[in-house]
Amino acid sequence: MVKVNTSLTFYGGVDEIGGNKILLQDKGTKIFLDFGMSFALKKQYYSLPFLSPRREKNLQELGILPKLEGFYRFDDRAAEVDAVFLSHAHMDHSAYISFINREIPVYCGETTKIILQALGEMRATALEFDVEDVLFRSFRTGDSITVDDLEIEPVHVDHSVPGAYGFIVHTSSGAVVYTGDFRAHGTKPEMTSDFVGKAKEAEPVAVVTEATNMTGASIILKLKLRIS
Ligand SMILES: [Zn+2]
Repeated sequence: MVKVNTSLTFYGGVDEIGGNKILLQDKGTKIFLDFGMSFALKKQYYSLPFLSPRREKNLQELGILPKLEGFYRFDDRAAEVDAVFLSHAHMDHSAYISFINREIPVYCGETTKIILQALGEMRATALEFDVEDVLFRSFRTGDSITVDDLEIEPVHVDHSVPGAYGFIVHTSSGAVVYTGDFRAHGTKPEMTSDFVGKAKEAEPVAVVTEATNMTGASIILKLKLRIS
């Protein structure tokens, strides 16, 4: 039997819109693809804008932040996750990097970094917008980022916020494609076509995507894939 060393674990973004937190593990290497806020979970306990979380640990106790060892800044243990990759600056994909251990690098497009830093300055007292000292590392299409044995290729897509990307992650099991959010009906559909072309070329073994409002009837389609 062939032993497969790659897995995808979904800590959010399944059976809900947004809240994407996808852990890709390959042998000993762990990266998160997005680490966003779950609107559905948060709404159960907080009523925005009047009632907001005051302590980071409360979010974990309530299950709004997943229980992960060596990942948060309120946890004294050494970082166990090697990197976080953000597809774009929408809160449901990026906001919870506020809570991560500052030793973990956060890769994203330059535009995403600027948007998140601007939000952090505008809402300086809000726990969920604190990106101070986050170890940002920005990329652009054409770059290839190496994290241990993983190679990650970001490719631009068109979306309703500028600076959005999808990822092609080259693992020991083959390519895993994560689309992030994208559209083909916007102002720059050729960017999405570029991503689709690159993703196809990579002959992926798994594609992770999220789709809301595929038609006017608000069909919600989620693909949940696990390599095993
Ligand atoms: Zn989005």
